[in-house]
Amino acid sequence: MPSKQLKQRAANAFQDVCGYPATTFVQAPGRVNLIGEHTDYNDGFVMPCAIDYQAVIACAKRDDGVIRLISVDYDHVQDSFVVNQEIKPTEDKLWANYMRGVIHFLKEKGYSLGGADIAITGNVPLGSGLSSSAALEVVTGQAMKVLYELDVTQSDLALIGQASEHNFAGCKCGIMDQMISACGEKSHALLLDCRSLESKAVHIPESVSIMIVNSHVTHSLVDGAYNALREQCEEASRLLGKVALRDATLAELDASSIEKGSDVYKRAHHVISENERTVACADALIAGDLQKVGEYMYASHASMRDDFEITVPEIDYIVEVLAEALGNKGGARMTGGGFGGCCVALMPTEMVPQVQAAIEAKYQAKTGIKESIYICTPQNGAGVI
Ligand code: ADP
Ligand code: MG
Repeated sequence: MPSKQLKQRAANAFQDVCGYPATTFVQAPGRVNLIGEHTDYNDGFVMPCAIDYQAVIACAKRDDGVIRLISVDYDHVQDSFVVNQEIKPTEDKLWANYMRGVIHFLKEKGYSLGGADIAITGNVPLGSGLSSSAALEVVTGQAMKVLYELDVTQSDLALIGQASEHNFAGCKCGIMDQMISACGEKSHALLLDCRSLESKAVHIPESVSIMIVNSHVTHSLVDGAYNALREQCEEASRLLGKVALRDATLAELDASSIEKGSDVYKRAHHVISENERTVACADALIAGDLQKVGEYMYASHASMRDDFEITVPEIDYIVEVLAEALGNKGGARMTGGGFGGCCVALMPTEMVPQVQAAIEAKYQAKTGIKESIYICTPQNGAGVI
């Protein structure tokens, strides 16, 4: 659904529920990560781009200090609280917690807020690794930024979104998703240094297409698995005597006391090698060498499958079909936190129809699940619409 329709849907819901028209409309995009998986919370490198799927808010100020959240996608269910009282997570409206947390942390950072009516909708597929949660957090911060003219940077909105996800949604995510949703650039991916938060825009020419294949396999307990992986990475960096795995080399890993082939070794091996691949892949993309880009993407997938152990058979099969169709003309890998979700492929634009046909012919026949395919172009980060 184009963003114009999303805006209209939010506007209509706002009018229906609140009985007056919204004054302000903002959006924040989902994202696809081209390479650099599970490196962000290890202070490493990632290379995502914002996509043309978004969270959209229609909103207006209230002068009574009440914040009312209206979920357009969940039958207009509402949540409300008073902005100047302590804001805590709710037990039953999990979607609202991502938003409550953002308001809480904006306040904690000293920003002065008032009440608001906020209708939220979106078309980022939920729980598919395209980060609908970060889009939800960032769009909430963006709405308050615009309504109350807050002097808050896009990077700080990202950090506030991450704090919300950690403390109100219980997922100890890195900073990638919120950063790209807040700071994305049209026609570019961002090579993001998750330690310094510095980024380098990497142009994606129109001759290169980004294909996302949604396996529609979702796993429960993903947050628990995610947090456990994060702990193994922290254990590895502690055993290596490093601040973060970003600071370690493969030679140091091999020379360390960490037993080769153990889970902690494999997790560290993925992260350290993935950091190297991500930086090298950005260079290859800048040089226009799609074959090299592809090699790094395939290697990234193998590392997620064998070392980080976060792929599932359906995802491995999609990458196999993509690789078969693409050969050395592009590349493919799983994208996102893992255990299902989406794969991403980069390819010459003229190859899109044949690659799409290969997936359509094979995935459902093999797995019994119908995939969704999205062709995306990199978009700007959050802002007014
Ligand atoms: P991902 O970020 O990969 O899409 P998550 O499990 O992290 O998956 O976040 C999905 C959750 O975010 C949903 O279950 C829902 O609670 C919330 N969410 C995301 N977008 C919306 C939206 N437009 N409206 C309401 N809730 C949303
Ligand atoms: Mg998420």
